[in-house]
Order: sequence, then C-alpha cells, then structure tokens
Amino acid sequence: METRAAILWEPRTDWSVEDIELDDPKAGEVKVKFAASGLCHSDEHMVTGDMVLDPEIAALLQLEQFPIIGGHEGAGEVVQVGPGVTTLQEGDHVVLSFIPSCGRCPSCARGRQHICDLGAVLLAGRQIGDMTARHHSKSGKDLGIMCCTGTFAPYTVVNEATCVKIDNSIPLDKAALVGCGVTTGWGAAVNAAGVQPGETVVVIGIGGIGMNAVQGAAMAGARHVIAVDPIEWKRKEAETTFGATHSAASIEEAAALVGELTWGANADKAILTTGVATGDLIGPMMGMVAKGGRGVVTAVAPMMQEDVKLNLFDLAMQRKELVGCIFGNANPRRDIPRLLQLYGEGRLKLDELVTTTYTLDEVNKGYQDMRDGKNIRGMILY
Ligand SMILES: [Zn+2]
Ligand SMILES: [Zn+2]
Repeated sequence: METRAAILWEPRTDWSVEDIELDDPKAGEVKVKFAASGLCHSDEHMVTGDMVLDPEIAALLQLEQFPIIGGHEGAGEVVQVGPGVTTLQEGDHVVLSFIPSCGRCPSCARGRQHICDLGAVLLAGRQIGDMTARHHSKSGKDLGIMCCTGTFAPYTVVNEATCVKIDNSIPLDKAALVGCGVTTGWGAAVNAAGVQPGETVVVIGIGGIGMNAVQGAAMAGARHVIAVDPIEWKRKEAETTFGATHSAASIEEAAALVGELTWGANADKAILTTGVATGDLIGPMMGMVAKGGRGVVTAVAPMMQEDVKLNLFDLAMQRKELVGCIFGNANPRRDIPRLLQLYGEGRLKLDELVTTTYTLDEVNKGYQDMRDGKNIRGMILY
C-alpha cells in the first residue's frame, strides 16, 4: 500500500515527510494503523549523530542505518495479520514496545524483557524475522525503521514480538506514551532506583523521561523528590502536577538543597534523565548520593562516550552504586498494561504529559520545540 513517513536520510538533516510504499506483513508480522506517536529524544540522537554507528563498524556489520523512518513511541490498531501470527488479530489495540520481547530468551525468561536478545537487531532497522525491509521509498530504496517500529508514519509493519496488546477501551493517543517515555522514567525510579517509602530522590533533567521518574518516585512513597532542570515552567509542572516536593535549576543548586533537606546525609537515589548523558555529569550526580545510595543512568549518551568523571575512592568507601537502566528495567508485557491500568484509575498521569500535538508534516517543528524546551512531550496525531 502507499502511505507516508518521516524519513531521516542522513544525520544532521531535517526529517523528510514523503510518500512511501509499505509491503504486506510477512510471517510473524502485523500491519498497525497508528493513532499517535510521541516525539522522543532518542530519535533526535540520530539527527545529532549521538546514536549513529561509526561508518566502518556499520560496514563490518553489513548494516545500513540510513535512510530510516523515525519514531518508536506509538500505539494503534492491528489492521492486517501475516501468516503464523498467533498472539494478535485484526482489531486488536497495541502499544509498540521499543524493545521487542520474545518471551523465550534467557533475559525474557528471568523477567528482564527490557534486555531481550531481540534487542540486538534494534539498530539494524529491518524486520526481526528475516532482516529485510517492508518499507520502501518511492525511488525503490529500502527504508529502516527506528527500534523495529517506525512510528513516524500512519501505518507500519512490525513483528508481533514488538506489539503489546492492550484493552480496547484505553485512548490510544495516551497509551502511546507508555511505549517509551513513561515506562522508561517510571521504571527508572521504581525498578532501577528501587525507591522506597521515605527516601530522598533527585531527578536530573525533567523532560519526557524525567517527569515520569518524578511521578514514579512520588508513587513509590519518596519523602523528597527534587526535580532538577534549568527550565522554570517544567520545574513548576513537576511540583504542581507530578509530585515533586522541591526543584532546583542546576545540579549545584540541587546539591545544596539536598544537603539542607537531609541534614547532610544526601539523597538515597539520584536518576540521570538529561537529554544527553555526558561523563562530566556522573561525578556531580554521585556527589549528591548518600553512602549506601544509588545513582541511575538512563539518559542516552553519545555512542563513543567513554570518559567519566567520578571519585572512585568515594564510590567504594561509601558503598555507592552506579547502575545503568534501559526501558525502566521493565517487562513491557506486564508493565505496559499495568501502567495503563494505573492511568485508568487516575493514579498515573498521562494527559498532563502531552504539551503540544502536531501533524506528521510538522515533525521538524515538534523537534524544534523540544530543543527550545517548550514541551514535556510533543505528540503526532494521525
Ligand atoms: Zn524513546
Ligand atoms: Zn527475549
């Protein structure tokens, strides 16, 4: 069929919205008609070059990262089912999980679907089943899809391992958010940081991920949740809507505040959710963490970032933990429906996360607004 998509032909260019050709689903695949797609920062990392494979490594892996259809935070309806699909049928509503979960690999089997072995093909941008493309440009070029999803298009074809079936009564434009940002942020606090009642938690960077780390920490019963961001309206929003008890404009300001609030004991947990993770942020973050406390890094760093500034003496002698976290260390097949239940019961805030909605043609404007700090989450509606 003919449809449209926002394509990134190469890094450091704009998204190009074009007509494309979409094949029928093959074995194990379904065609999804999207209702909405979030504008997540991770797609921006391909634009800036942070999440772009070194050309030599890409050649070695025989992998063509570009051109690629963006977007990985979407929800919609299954409109066509390929041969052999057993878990979905036409009319089902699904949230696309930006990391597929096969349910059978060692990680899935031990309840770590966020590091499913199928994640190994994420950057290849092709169909999981046979590593070929269903999406093609009008000139006949195969198109990759971001995180095996490609939600910057009204229609896509994906493997059933990527789809999490949800209740048809849940509004799809809200459900889309749980495909990446909400689960990543909420899980960073609840799962990775393991926030306990009465703890002091610092969240550094209050965007689509950080705001959800704030609401996760608050829901887990934190005594203090300190939201750190240079943008004032986001700090205010974190405090008035998402459960932050305090806020600070910088890490330095936060460190002073945390010292004051805890009588020098410092924060039990700190979570790094900045737009880009860089090595110079780790030391100041861990400096705010109490002895026996934990720092969580979930922000995406440039792929070749290797240098980290950190006091190693302090790390060992104060028994601190520094941990990485992807997709909120969640199990999408359990946690996506569970978070949506919390939303349905009015306990998880999703409506308040969407600052601005856009058409597909406005995708570049949406990202400019993100760069300008105007959005918690921008969202494309189809
Ligand atoms: Zn994302
Ligand atoms: Zn798996």
